[in-house]
Order: sequence, then C-alpha cells, then structure tokens
Amino acid sequence: MPGVGTPIYSLGHYMLRLSSIIVSAVLAATLLAGQARADESVRILVMDGLAKIRIQFPEGYEVDDRTGVLADDPGDTPSGPVVIISKDNGPPNGVRIFADKTPVNINEFSLTGVVEVGKNAKGLLRIINEIPIEDYVRAVVGEEMPASWPIEALKAQAVVTRTYALFRKTKHDYDGYDLCSSVNSQVFTGDAREKDGPARAARDTEGEVLGYNGALVETLYHSTCGGITEDAADVWDLSRPYLRPEGCSCSKESPYAAWEKRIPQTEIEKALCANGYPVAGITAITVTDRSDTGRAKAVSIQAVWGRGTIKAADLRRIIGYSKVPSTCFMIKKDGEDFVFSGKGAGHGVGMCQWGAKVMAENGKGYREILAHYYKDTVLSRIVSQGGR
Ligand SMILES: [Zn+2]
Repeated sequence: MPGVGTPIYSLGHYMLRLSSIIVSAVLAATLLAGQARADESVRILVMDGLAKIRIQFPEGYEVDDRTGVLADDPGDTPSGPVVIISKDNGPPNGVRIFADKTPVNINEFSLTGVVEVGKNAKGLLRIINEIPIEDYVRAVVGEEMPASWPIEALKAQAVVTRTYALFRKTKHDYDGYDLCSSVNSQVFTGDAREKDGPARAARDTEGEVLGYNGALVETLYHSTCGGITEDAADVWDLSRPYLRPEGCSCSKESPYAAWEKRIPQTEIEKALCANGYPVAGITAITVTDRSDTGRAKAVSIQAVWGRGTIKAADLRRIIGYSKVPSTCFMIKKDGEDFVFSGKGAGHGVGMCQWGAKVMAENGKGYREILAHYYKDTVLSRIVSQGGR
C-alpha cells in the first residue's frame, strides 16, 4: 500500500504542458481516495443467475470437500478434478478458489486470480473474479479491439480500459464487484487466452491512467462515431468537460460508416410493448430533437390512437443495439417496415476505436490519440510501493 507521498510519474509531453503541482494533485487525490495503485485488483461479475455450474480444475489441484456437498461430475473427467455446484447444494458461505496464474475453467470461462462462487439476492449462483488490474487490462484489450490493429491504437485502448476500470471501482455502484463482463462495462471472458498485440500494449503502458482535475477520467469509448464524437451531456445528462464533440476520420475505414436497417413495424411494436410502451398501429416515427452533432435525441411515435415521445437512446436500446447501431439516424416508413439509415456504431462518446485505428495508421502515437478524444486530460502513471 503506497503512502500519499509515493511518486507517480507523468509522461512525455504532458509533463511539459502541466505543472508538477497539478500532476501531484491528481496523484494525491487518487491516492487519498484509495483509488489507483499499481497493485490494484478489480472484481468482475463474470456470471450471474445460474442454477448450476461446472468447475474444472487443472491437473494437480485437490478438492478437499469437508462439507460433502459438492457433487463430482458424472461425465468425463479430462485432466483435473471436476465439480458441479448447484444453487441447492452449494456450501452456505460460498466457495473461494485461489487459482493464481493457473486457469480454472468454469462453464465457458477460463479464470485466474481469486474466483468466488456465491449467491445473488435470488438465491442463484454468481461468480466474481478478482484479478490484478494489469491482467484485466491485457484480457479486455484483446476482447475490445482486434489484436491485429496498430500497436498505438491498442495502447490507447489499454490506457482507456485501465482508467475506466479504476474509475468504476471508485463508484461502488454494485454490490460486491466493480465491473460486469458484458458490453455494459467492458467485455471480459477470462484472462487465460492472451494475445500478442494486446499483451504488449498493456505492458508498454503499464500503470498509465488518464486524469482530469484531480480525479480519474470516465474513459467512455465506442466503435465508430461516424465523423464527430458526441457530447456526454447529450446522451446521459453527464457533465464531463473532457467528453466533448471532436472531429474524426473513422469513416475512411469503419464498416459502420454508413448503414441502413429495415425493421418490420410489428417487431418495433412488440419490442416497445415488452418494455412498457403499449403501442399498436404505428403510422410514423419522426426525430423531433437532435444534438449539435446531428444525433437523434428524441423521437415521436405516431400510432392509430395517439402520439408519444421517447428518447432516441431508449428506442435504440429497446429495438436492439445491433439492429440500430447508433442514434445518428433518419427514419422513413416503407410498406410494413421502418427503414433506419444512419452513421456510426455505439453511443459516440469518448474515444472512437475506428478513429483511433486511422490515427495510428497515420503515424499518431497513443498519447496523441488519447489527447484528441479526451481533451485536457493528464496521462500519469500509478506506481507500486517503493516506486518504479
Ligand atoms: Zn470516429
């Protein structure tokens, strides 16, 4: 555990732009709040709501089940012991597995570190995996960005991933964990399947985080902005001075630069009904409010018996993120379908991943990429006890 006086090194030209007082303030604030350490670990909810799980231990493990409640797997047992835990027979206080660096396989996940099998409020099984932040960064970069992309884009992703995880950790939003493993946080499927590019990107940026005004930056990111990133205030009423519209060249390469999606009217009605918006006989869907960057903010739905308004982001979530890739769309009715034509993929806030790729291909380094998408932020390095 480092003390408040532990040095944190600032990097490259950021050091030239900012006084050491500001850098120290960032560090002191994060350290005082117990927020960011190099030996930090993160707790990830990797599975939740399961009735039964199958744990396969590596060779050499011994399962000492003094409670006698763990069932052996009746099926084939490859190398190490296999145990089935169900919501009904699990030990009352849960199970903690210290996997260290040797992966333990639980269902489709391959996990290292500390693996906790417990129960959620409904009495169903949930798995929380606690691993060192750097192991987490290495794994997530490989999930969130193709391993073949330029190293400077991967390094930008590594800093963004690390900062986002530590930012979430300071929020204590969830009971017993910091992040979940889906696209709602950052995709994580275990850290055992390491890829070269992402591993190098994590190593080359080890401990580096983005700060703004003495706090960790909420480093939101997305696939493709379509030409200009979005103001966080226009998506979630989130006031973040560093998440403002920035021009971007992602459209040169991204497959989501322009898209058209045809969705049957009945499918839209069904989705709206299932989400608490009872509606039938939609005759028109019209964008009634747009942000400065052109993304839809509010949508009016005209049906046979009346008219209602819904946030464009809610409509996108309800129909499905993959069916409506972004809110930068226009809508027209065509027979029994509605045709959404638009640009970009994702919420558009923060770093645009395809834009980062194009910048890297044009010779920009990861520091320039981060400075472009997160204005006036400071790159610093958290250090372990004793300094680095
Ligand atoms: Zn972009």
